[in-house]
Amino acid sequence: MTQELITIQEARERVLHATGRLPTERVDIGEALGRVLADDVAAAADVPPFPSSAMDGYAVLAGPAGRRLTVIGESRAGTPSADRLSEGAAIRISTGGSVPDGATAVIRQEDTQAGDGQVEIQAATEPGQNIRPAGDDMRAGAPILRRGTRLGPSELGAAVAAGAGSLVTSCRPRVAVLCTGDELRAPGEPLGPGEIHNSNGPMLVAAAIRCGAVAPRPGRLPDDRARTEAGLAQALKSSDVVVVSGGVSVGPHDHVKPALAALGVEEVFWRVALQPGKPTWFGVSGSRLVFGLPGNPVSAAVTFSLFVAPALATIQGAPPPAVTSGEAILATAVARNPQREQAIRVVLERRASQTFATPNGPQGSHIVTSLVGAGALALIPAGEGRLEAGTPVSLVELIR
Ligand code: AMP
Ligand code: MG
Repeated sequence: MTQELITIQEARERVLHATGRLPTERVDIGEALGRVLADDVAAAADVPPFPSSAMDGYAVLAGPAGRRLTVIGESRAGTPSADRLSEGAAIRISTGGSVPDGATAVIRQEDTQAGDGQVEIQAATEPGQNIRPAGDDMRAGAPILRRGTRLGPSELGAAVAAGAGSLVTSCRPRVAVLCTGDELRAPGEPLGPGEIHNSNGPMLVAAAIRCGAVAPRPGRLPDDRARTEAGLAQALKSSDVVVVSGGVSVGPHDHVKPALAALGVEEVFWRVALQPGKPTWFGVSGSRLVFGLPGNPVSAAVTFSLFVAPALATIQGAPPPAVTSGEAILATAVARNPQREQAIRVVLERRASQTFATPNGPQGSHIVTSLVGAGALALIPAGEGRLEAGTPVSLVELIR
């Protein structure tokens, strides 16, 4: 029982060491948001595929102002002109229109005066002006996206421009969130004496979805040994990652650890030198990962960000995330914990090209409001006394 507490770093390493990779699947672009790319994407062809106009105006031979040209046709976006441009002629063109053969510049409409099938050129043009060469954005075969990239709107746009209609991605991890506690009531339900709302359930499901997982509605487990074991057995069957909240301490009504042991889930660690989040449990059952997070809502959110989020990234083939996502200057002094590193919720503010971190109100592990509006977690090393204002601290991404 009197195990050494392990550091955050050690706990993360053990989690990542135990985390495998999910299989991959090809999905339509429309299904790919938030997934992790499993194959590199290269441009199938030049983008743009043809020299195209950057302006609405006239395709011309580059030259001086003061010319009067005969308009011999039109090249619209999607409908190129079949005509070849020669001396004395102009072809009306729209933005994105294919630049006709022979043309060497596009003069923008604002610098022209049209009438009677003619156009007066009121500004000089240089060769290539307002023409986007073929391949200006992507060359055929050029690498555009690397495997391991999480697909956001920009990546999806680039993939489609590169010619992709579907992408090979990691399967999404199936995450089961289970909340233990006789005191828990579903969101919005009236509370009886001693009861509280199950805020961890929806919060942890949302965090898992943010990390690219598929997570059904949270399950609830009463503080009962047999039912805890039955609920966990069910969750283990149907998911890649099980996240349990609460019931993982040493109280007489904490049944998660013995139930997991009975189910053959192998403990990898229990208890981290972390505040909030000391009684965090992690174990494995084959390739399945099981996280026992403390019930206090802030502890659950912090330990999800520190340990579950990196596992969900890794299981999808994203590169192992760095422990810290940057640094900031502590804006106010913070009391240190002699034994445990603290992960405090901070508001980040840019001042004079530096980032300052201010604690986001009271930091108790039950203060859910400390999560709202927090820009990151700041790590306060264990030690005596206080960490003074002006001290640099490491930041960790808070999943929110
Ligand atoms: P436990 O880890 O089960 O000892 O719970 C620690 C504290 O967190 C207790 O005050 C619980 O009432 C509270 N708690 C446990 N589970 C949840 C939950 N799902 N939502 C909100 N608070 C919870
Ligand atoms: Mg409990």
